[in-house]
Order: sequence, then structure tokens, then C-alpha cells
Amino acid sequence: MNIFLLSINSDELPMSSVAIVYVEKSDVETAVRKAVNLLGGIEQFVSDEDVILLKPNLLIAPKKKEVRDKIRTDPRVLEALSKMLLELQKKVIIGDCSAAGHDGGTREAILQSDYLEISEKFDNVEIRSLEKNGPINVDVKGKKLRKVNIAKDILDAKTIINVPKMKTHSMTLYTGAIKNLFGTITGGDKTRIHSLGASIKGFSQCLVDLYAFEKPKIKLNVMDAIIALEGMGPGASGQAVEMNLILASEDAVALDAVAFKLMGHDPKKVPATRYAAEQGLGEIDLTKITILGEKIEDHQKKFKLPVTAKIAVIPFQRFTNISIRHPKYTSGCIGCQDCERACPEQVIKIVKDKKGNEKPIIDFKGCISCFTCMEICPEACYTHQFRNVKKALAIGIPIFLTIIGAIIALVLLL
Ligand code: SF4
Ligand code: SF4
Repeated sequence: MNIFLLSINSDELPMSSVAIVYVEKSDVETAVRKAVNLLGGIEQFVSDEDVILLKPNLLIAPKKKEVRDKIRTDPRVLEALSKMLLELQKKVIIGDCSAAGHDGGTREAILQSDYLEISEKFDNVEIRSLEKNGPINVDVKGKKLRKVNIAKDILDAKTIINVPKMKTHSMTLYTGAIKNLFGTITGGDKTRIHSLGASIKGFSQCLVDLYAFEKPKIKLNVMDAIIALEGMGPGASGQAVEMNLILASEDAVALDAVAFKLMGHDPKKVPATRYAAEQGLGEIDLTKITILGEKIEDHQKKFKLPVTAKIAVIPFQRFTNISIRHPKYTSGCIGCQDCERACPEQVIKIVKDKKGNEKPIIDFKGCISCFTCMEICPEACYTHQFRNVKKALAIGIPIFLTIIGAIIALVLLL
């Protein structure tokens, strides 16, 4: 279904409506306004609340502009939303916990993010590290995730506008609206959850548990799909893809489904989107989602998926429980130690080689293939490699043959 409307009452629209707007001549503000108006206008989502929290994807903010432009939510999208909220006399907080996992790292990322220019332009816009006011440990009562340190600012907020970026992800295949909320977890708890859900399946369920808990506050999702990311995302190792789109929806699941379709792939391939839909948290079925504005087929591209996430679903790995995809250091380390601090299993050590250059050494015995190191490295120092293939085959093939044998025996007996 494709409808083009200027502004209507959101009560008249099904909740699973997704607006797709093309950014004409780099006019991001007009595109954001158009996308939100297609859903009925911003006032419909912010009601009587005085303070609105915008949750971007800050991730990390490398020094090189062309690198950060493909990684973090475009500041022009945040500025457009801020202006719309200021027109309604709201106070705006733009806040995130970066992938660095500590307040200093998030502050540094903010300094390099280009977000501070927004607060310099407007009195009632504050850029805040969500690590600043600390976490509160809450029980999110999820299927896999229970007690977790969520930023106090998130728990205090009554209205959040989620502002993700369209990217591939080395572990979860894709990151968009649902995954963006992982940045509401403070400090080292992110690394603990990576260990807790040390598989694409387990980690995706943790993301869905978190989304289910925060969903009542997430009134609107506005996605930056201007410069998207393909390949070994979501960090500097991925490649930029120009989409020039803004997407918006009340339904984070529908938004993620439409975004992944625009990236040229079946939304059901993304475990987090699928699990969220199965739990009734939103719509994944594209035939049941109302598309407003541009048509998907007019803007669809074929994104390269991260080979690591594709391999995560091969049967041998499931049978053997042995990870065969691992990070590999290439070159270019500046010794920032971000990967060492962020590694959930603490298996990275930054050492100096004979020439005095710093580089990471990984103890692969403890590596859970979460690719946080690749995600966080500002210099794109990591690629992937296969290890343990022989070991996985040695265990996997007998298990596989035993299952096939048992099935054949059962068929013959019957
Ligand atoms: S590998 Fe990357 S993240 Fe790790 S210390 Fe070197 S530059 Fe920093
Ligand atoms: S070395 Fe990298 S992939 Fe392995 S556990 Fe640490 S952060 Fe994850």
C-alpha cells in the first residue's frame, strides 16, 4: 500500500505505517519534517511532556569526518527534530552512551560528533552523555535479559524519540531502531550482555527484551538513512552507501523491516526484528505495513551483508558450539585501547611490537566472536578470519551424520 499525504491525524493511520522521504538537494530538515508530517505531525507524539529525549546512534566518533558520517546519526536529523520540538516550546536532550562503555569515552565521542553545534545554536537543546547521571539497575523481565544497568536519564524520560542510523552489523546482521536502544545501557554492562548473549540468537533476544521494556517511552522512531553503511558494520570497517532517505514510524519493528527491505534483503533474516514481531511488539510483514511517501522499490539497493553474521547461522557452528569466525588485526593501530576496554571477555591486550608500534593481541581461546572490537575501532584496524574450521568439522560432521542416520533408520522402520 502506498499513500502520499501532507499531514493527517495519526489516529487515522494504522500504527504500522512507515514514512519514506527522499532528501532533495541535501535539505535534511524539509525531509525530516515531511516524514513526521506524513505520520500526523510531531505534536501527536510528544503530548504534554516538557522535556523530550532524542536518542541518536553515537557509537564512536572518529576524528575523520568521512568516517564518522557513515557511523553516527547525522546531526542535521537531530537539528531538524530539535527545531520542531522547540517550536512546541519543549526542552530537548540529545543523549547516548557510546560504545566506549564509559563516561570519558562518550564525552570524547560527543566532542567529535558535531552534535555540540546544535546546542550552541539553540538555548533549550542539551547534548548529554547518558553515563553522566549514572545507571539504575532494573529488572526488565525479558526472556533472556533480566537485571540491567539502564541510564537514569532514560528511566526518568517519559517521551523518547529514537533516532537510529541504517547500517549492517557484524554480529546482528543489521542495526536500526531496535538495536539503537542498546546505547541506553551504561558502562561495562554492555560488555556483560554481549557475554550473556554470546550468539546472534542470544544477543538478539537481549535486544528485544530491552526494546520491550523501553517501548512505552519510545513514541517515535526517525531513521537517518542519508548515508547508510554496508559490509562489516556498524563501525569504521563498513562502507558508506548513499541512500538519501529519511524513514519514520511509531513502530520500531515495522521501521526495521522496511529499512532492511530497502537494503535489498528479507527483514525476516534479522533475528531481532523477527523475535520482536513474534513477541507482538510490532509488524514485520511488509504486506501489512502502510508505506507513506516514496515506494520501497524506487529506492531499494543490494547491501553487502557482513560475512561474519551470515556465517553465524551455518549449521556446523550450531552443532559444535565452536566459533569459526574471529576478528583479525590488520594495521593502523593508534593505541587508543578502546578495543581492549570494550572487549566483553577481556581477551585483548594492546602491546608494542619490536618497532615500538602498538597493536592488539587477542587470546582466541576466550573470544566469543561478538566483533565489538571491530565495531569500536576508530581506525578500521580489524577484519575477520576463520579459525577452528577443522575442529568444528571434526565434531560437526559425526553429529550431522548421526542425525541423518537416525532419520533414515526411523523412515525405514516406519
Ligand atoms: S586496534 Fe583500534 S581500537 Fe584497538 S587500540 Fe588500536 S586503534 Fe584503538
Ligand atoms: S576479541 Fe573482539 S570479538 Fe573476541 S570477544 Fe573480544 S571484542 Fe568480542
